[in-house]
Amino acid sequence: MARTTSGALEAPRDKTDEIITDFLVGNLRLDVRKGHVELMGHRIMLFRFEFLVAVQKQLEEMIGDSASSVMYLAGERAAKEVLPAMSDRIREVLPGRESLVILRSMSDVWAMIGVGRATMTEFDPEEGRFAFKIEHGAYPAAYGRSLKPVCHMWAGWAAGVAKTMFARDVVCEEDGCVAAGEDVCTFTIRPRP
Ligand SMILES: [Zn+2]
Repeated sequence: MARTTSGALEAPRDKTDEIITDFLVGNLRLDVRKGHVELMGHRIMLFRFEFLVAVQKQLEEMIGDSASSVMYLAGERAAKEVLPAMSDRIREVLPGRESLVILRSMSDVWAMIGVGRATMTEFDPEEGRFAFKIEHGAYPAAYGRSLKPVCHMWAGWAAGVAKTMFARDVVCEEDGCVAAGEDVCTFTIRPRP
């Protein structure tokens, strides 16, 4: 079931955005006495994106082009470690409509923690081909201008999600990046050659 569009793979959401925002905000807990922040029962940390950007820039200074691989593989590793904790259902989900709903939920969580708004633009799990975009991305904004795409961690995360959900060996590439002058960050996921 291949579905490719130039826009988003979604119908207008009417009040769904508001409902999901209310749900997520209702599941955010802050305990200053203990120094705990929890989102949907999982401990998270609130930090400026410059913190993550500093890690990437330090790596770029020390190991050059290999820094992108480190960030990518870290994102992929994080996805593999975090996804099973997010939902047991993910492991048994079918490659159809249900997985689109789960991906939409992940996009909502990303939006909640401030990554930006991610939207699927191609969804073909049978062929292992996907594409998505991130609008209003905080990471490339924090990074500043670059000649090349910089969102390696999100690319790795997306590859890890696709590998975990659809049991396919895939790679994700960021084709265009806000840091490199594009309006949105765009990513494609393809089977590993
Ligand atoms: Zn980017």
